[in-house]
Amino acid sequence: MLVPVRNLSRPVCVALVLCSMVSVLSAETATTIFKNGKVITLDDQSRIVEAIALRDGKILAVGSDADMQPYQGDQTKVISLEGKTVIPGLIESHVHALRAARGELIQPHQELNSVSEIQAWIREKVKEVPKGRWITVPRTDITRLKERRHPTPAELDVACATHPVHMNIARKDVLNTLGFELLGIKSDKDTLAGARIVFDDNGKPLMMEGGGGAIQKLIPKQTVSPEATREALKKLHAIYNSVGITSILERGSGVEEYREYELLKEQKELTVRMTMTIRQQVRSAAAVEAFTKKLGLITGDGDDWVRVGPLKISVDGGIHWGNTRLSEPYGEKRRQFYVLQDADYRGDLAYSRELMEQVFEAGQKLGWQMCCHATGDGSVNEILTALENVNQRLPVKDRRFCITHAYFPTQESVERSKALGVCYDTQTYLFYRDADAINQIYGPAWVNRFMGLKTFVDGGVPIAINSDHMNGFDPDHSMNAFNPFLALYIAVSRRDIDGNVFGAHQKLTREQALRCMTIDAAYISFEEKVKGTLEPGKLADLVVLDRDYLTCPENEIRQIKPLLTVVDGQIVFDAGKTGRP
Ligand SMILES: [Zn+2]
Repeated sequence: MLVPVRNLSRPVCVALVLCSMVSVLSAETATTIFKNGKVITLDDQSRIVEAIALRDGKILAVGSDADMQPYQGDQTKVISLEGKTVIPGLIESHVHALRAARGELIQPHQELNSVSEIQAWIREKVKEVPKGRWITVPRTDITRLKERRHPTPAELDVACATHPVHMNIARKDVLNTLGFELLGIKSDKDTLAGARIVFDDNGKPLMMEGGGGAIQKLIPKQTVSPEATREALKKLHAIYNSVGITSILERGSGVEEYREYELLKEQKELTVRMTMTIRQQVRSAAAVEAFTKKLGLITGDGDDWVRVGPLKISVDGGIHWGNTRLSEPYGEKRRQFYVLQDADYRGDLAYSRELMEQVFEAGQKLGWQMCCHATGDGSVNEILTALENVNQRLPVKDRRFCITHAYFPTQESVERSKALGVCYDTQTYLFYRDADAINQIYGPAWVNRFMGLKTFVDGGVPIAINSDHMNGFDPDHSMNAFNPFLALYIAVSRRDIDGNVFGAHQKLTREQALRCMTIDAAYISFEEKVKGTLEPGKLADLVVLDRDYLTCPENEIRQIKPLLTVVDGQIVFDAGKTGRP
């Protein structure tokens, strides 16, 4: 329990403020002082102090309890932290919150970790879905299924033969028998335009790749109203606050989504700050110019609540889908696992190096920060070469080009990045869930590099850690789980969900990990001067924790719960009052 040392009851407080605002609240008087705590400032000296004073949404002072005396006025709310730890507000630098909000309205996300869990979910769904209507299984990945393979139609049939069932997993559509029949596929004599169908030894369909449009035609598209989406988004933001998140980077949206956030800001209903990554597969210099001109926005537009971030293109695929671009051919094991055909396959590359150069240079000239989705080491190398070529004509360093994902860094790629001023964001939760599969399918050399955070940190390249949250509202069981304390635990321990450690030399210290969710995350969106540390003049975004992040047992880091989350000097989450949403 946090103890308000002196907090006037509300009506009296309001009256006093109204009649004495000017005289009492001098420029140096705090609205709130947190005292008697352990405040981790993350400033240049890594100072830990006892107290912090806030005023007008900004940090007024940090220091000892005694240092706060000059800032304490009649109206100052003083809260004793009783020794509790305070950290800067956490910055979740890669989410798809609007998508998660819409998705949750259409069908609540359920984490599914095995074929039997998929079957159990389908059985429950059968009870509520009218007969004959399609059932779509929530997204999961084969790396995360206990069986580490696609489910079979027969396994889906066991759960449901009355409704057509569909699930998309690792770029394959798996249907139950009824589903395949509705598509007209009963045996290996049947075909579907644009689809590669995989059959079993008896000629029965197992899965198909491509031809998804034919399935979509059969499944009525569900939509949700903007009002309902807005309410769901506010709820999700409250959940973010409850786990200590005070800022997010929406990592791939359009201008309509940006306007949604502006609307929430105008209505004073935002409880997280948001920086928007605009995603568009622009494929020429002219397309970059035309698209950005039409947007009428540019990196840095907006304010401390809603801001325009980078322009993003997707250069390769994913480790879950079997199309991440690697520096070597996939080989037999990976081809079998992902059900691939091409013996020389190295993964997808959506842009040639020449095309990337054109796009990066155009964005650079127009003043945009650029961001690339690139999961594999092959795609990262191509991006760096393209950027090095652009850099010969036009210095790129100050533009903080950002690569998102980059799961297999090397010392060489990090050195090249440092020279170009390239920064990164990556997702520790994928290590937690997928490291064992990477070890099995890619091999030990790859898992030791997987999510190599220390390689980035030692190389002096800014690296933000985050979740890539896209489905579900549960902080610990979403796709992908966004509990920041779980992310910090993974970065510090290099343990996966079963407790296995892979690549122990890549462990970060607790402070290094925390910097990846605060000041480094602020840096990648040019916001390090206003947030990411607890220093005078910065935004009053902070979190009070239920235990000491720096000294609690390592496996307790993931159990840390915020007691208070403060954004802009206002308490947006109070565990004692509201409980957890
Ligand atoms: Zn993403």
